[in-house]
Amino acid sequence: AKWVYSFGDGKAEGRADMRNLLGGKGANLAEMSSLGLPVPPGFTITTEVCTYFYDNERTYPPELKDEVEKALVSVEKIVGTAFGDAANPLLVSVRSGARASMPGMMDTVLNLGLNDKTVLGLAKSSGDERFAWDSYRRFIQMYSNVVLDVGHHYFEEALEIKKEDLGVQMDTDLKADDWKSVVAEYKKLVEKRTGKPFPQEPREQLWGAVGAVFESWMNQRAITYRRLHSIPESWGTAVNVQAMVFGNMGEDCATGVAFTRDPSTGTNLFYGEYLVNAQGEDVVAGIRTPQHLTVQGKLAQKSDAPAMEEVMPEVFRQLADVRQRLEKHYSDMQDIEFTVQRGKLYMLQTRNGKRTAKAALKIAVDMVNEGLIDKKEAVARIVPASLDQLLHPTLDPKATRKVIAKGLPASPGAASGKVVFSADDAEKQARSGEKVILVRRETSPEDIHGMHAAEGILTSTGGMTSHAAVVARGMGKPCVAGAGDVRIDGKAGTLSVRGTVVKTGETITLDGSTGEIILGIVPTVQPELSGDFSQLMEWADEFRKLGIRTNAETPADAAQARKFGAEGIGLCRTEHMFFEGDRIVAVREMILADDEKSRRTALAKIQPMQRQDFVELFEIMAGLPVTIRLLDPPLHEFLPKTPAEMEVVARDLGVDLKEIEERANKLHEFNPMLGHRGVRLGISYPEIYEMQARAIFEAVAEVQKKAGKTVIPEIMIPLVATKKELDLMKVVIDRVAEEVSSSSSQKLEYLVGTMIELPRAALRAGDIAETAEFFSFGTNDLTQTTFGLSRDDSASFLEKYQQRGIFEHDPFASLDIEGVGELIEIATERGRKVRNSLKLGICGEHGGDPASVFFCHKAGLDYVSCSPYRVPIARLAAAQAAL
Ligand code: ADP
Ligand code: MG
Ligand code: MG
Repeated sequence: AKWVYSFGDGKAEGRADMRNLLGGKGANLAEMSSLGLPVPPGFTITTEVCTYFYDNERTYPPELKDEVEKALVSVEKIVGTAFGDAANPLLVSVRSGARASMPGMMDTVLNLGLNDKTVLGLAKSSGDERFAWDSYRRFIQMYSNVVLDVGHHYFEEALEIKKEDLGVQMDTDLKADDWKSVVAEYKKLVEKRTGKPFPQEPREQLWGAVGAVFESWMNQRAITYRRLHSIPESWGTAVNVQAMVFGNMGEDCATGVAFTRDPSTGTNLFYGEYLVNAQGEDVVAGIRTPQHLTVQGKLAQKSDAPAMEEVMPEVFRQLADVRQRLEKHYSDMQDIEFTVQRGKLYMLQTRNGKRTAKAALKIAVDMVNEGLIDKKEAVARIVPASLDQLLHPTLDPKATRKVIAKGLPASPGAASGKVVFSADDAEKQARSGEKVILVRRETSPEDIHGMHAAEGILTSTGGMTSHAAVVARGMGKPCVAGAGDVRIDGKAGTLSVRGTVVKTGETITLDGSTGEIILGIVPTVQPELSGDFSQLMEWADEFRKLGIRTNAETPADAAQARKFGAEGIGLCRTEHMFFEGDRIVAVREMILADDEKSRRTALAKIQPMQRQDFVELFEIMAGLPVTIRLLDPPLHEFLPKTPAEMEVVARDLGVDLKEIEERANKLHEFNPMLGHRGVRLGISYPEIYEMQARAIFEAVAEVQKKAGKTVIPEIMIPLVATKKELDLMKVVIDRVAEEVSSSSSQKLEYLVGTMIELPRAALRAGDIAETAEFFSFGTNDLTQTTFGLSRDDSASFLEKYQQRGIFEHDPFASLDIEGVGELIEIATERGRKVRNSLKLGICGEHGGDPASVFFCHKAGLDYVSCSPYRVPIARLAAAQAAL
């Protein structure tokens, strides 16, 4: 195998499409180099070396050393310096780079190759002694931190002491000799903490750093990040070794990061930040607040600091040109990192930029209009689950807001919650059901778990590309960053802005779209779905083959789902209607009645209400199909629980309280989910299903008469295991239909079908399809019954199952395609063989899960049905499945 790939001088051995082997960073450095962009030369050690490393007790392939030496020589040739050369030393950075970008999860070492001798050479060749010693101390700190595991704070403390001794405030006040003595301090510090002198030999440094990158693949931060983002451990990371360029050699030097379009809104404007005379991660770390690239950006954020466009117009023009070329080449918005050394631009990274869902839509639609991509590509690019961000409420513009401060609008959306000052607190409180806002001076990868747990994130330093901003956008969480007026005192547990003090546990609201920080809770409103959203959805609908329905029983849900594009109701759960208002009393009477006659009396009270429910639903759905599931849950769910509730029922039924208690006890079940529920209720008490069927048909008759339009309800019998069960219920339904038809003198069309939610039903789908006109796979129960796994009780141990790799994901969230999926395929095939016109769909949580939607498409179902807010997600996922 070839373990090392070189790039530089307008050439490269790798390409953008080799990201599996070279990691994202390495592949794109190679690609940029081949494009002739100014990339400092270097080489990439492949991800296969990482795999080898872990497969072979942390050793390297024998050929690796030679390959690295050769690659190093070619870098030396291009740059005209030599690694370890005392007079003219080559310095390199050692950078990790996994397949998928893992922002900030792996540590980069800059200025590697410096030692007591080469630092003098660097001072001489650069003509800047101060710069050389500053670079050396940065190197010692970074290297010691990443490779030797010496905490940053030791170095920071040492520097603070130095500054106090010197009586200065800013790093910029330190002179060459001061840095020199800082270096001496740092070296002492390293020896004290590690028991060994700081390594002087450049090759030892290089292999130390390479090893540390590979080691970091298994550090806790990386493991957590991979788990949260479903990145397999087997992918491994690559290591990039690259000649250093310096953004900290003076006022004609700079370093920066940029997006080729605005990552928050998607607007086609160059968007970025830079710092003059700075190195590496100074921009991202939020240590100094960076300046804007463009005048436009500067004005938009009312900043006084001059833009790069003004300070370095020539380099800015080069950068703007690179922006154009990269977008054209990649046909996508890029996130780039660059450095300017003495007026010359160098590109250090490019990748497809992370963006908010809103920006993703705008960029995709714009790029189609600009001719950069086609509709299909636009539809393929949007991550279906990300649409969720757009569908949720924003702050009510009419509500009064007590704005206490403003920061940068780093990640859009609104969030209210109790203030917490540490990631651990955020996690703890969120676990106990609190909504929290995580408040930090700045965030770092150690805070990821807290950011996940929080509703929103607020920082007081850092820019739009700071860690907090990037990670929050990735998570789809509101974030206000760099709110400079906010003083944070984590120890005291307060944040204060000019006299206003907010303590731990008090509530604030963040508006991530404006950057506002607001006292208390602000009411929210439903979002307006923008033109880009509808445009993209329209394109999605052109490609998809699956129908999309919704699970809804209330008029509000049904109306919302239609707005989101639902083409019908795939599951109307009638039991939810039984809980409304006073109905529950009548329902309890029905359950606790001890003969058919009193049961019918109680049912007669419920029927008109149930009819009215259906009338509303049919009106909203205006002729679209509506699947109504007859009563499903075990009766005990409706039982009166408190003595007071019992008494009401006793009085209404005219029996003793004691008698009622006894009857309720009799209905107790040990395993109700496998008990007296679903069609079994219909078999025991046919009058219940009869009432429901009558309510449905009378509603149909009423709406048809009013609107003059045919309504075709699909009546669904739950938990069927055998054809016979369904046959018996169909007789009841057909009889009621005939009665209502003649009494209303209306023609009634309807379908009778069943849910497939028991393995037996899936296997005997052939028989069942002789009677059923449709199947709806109730995948919640089908998962439960296939695995023999209670969905109400399994959460406690499912996590272990996932950690240990037994389940790749929670089978209740994403369909188990191998097992439950096979049952669906079997039922589909056997059912359709008997009845060609059999309609097939799924309802249950899986209907809104993109991976499950892909499966349903492949299995040839007619539709999926999901909760209203998941409808757009399902539409898009269905389109992508069909591309
Ligand atoms: P991350 O993956 O965290 O972004 P990088 O490997 O991109 O880490 O390194 C972080 C920063 O270090 C870069 O954005 C760049 O500013 C700086 N850097 C890395 N390599 C070099 C180099 N060869 N010359 C100058 N700066 C570099
Ligand atoms: Mg980077
Ligand atoms: Mg069910």
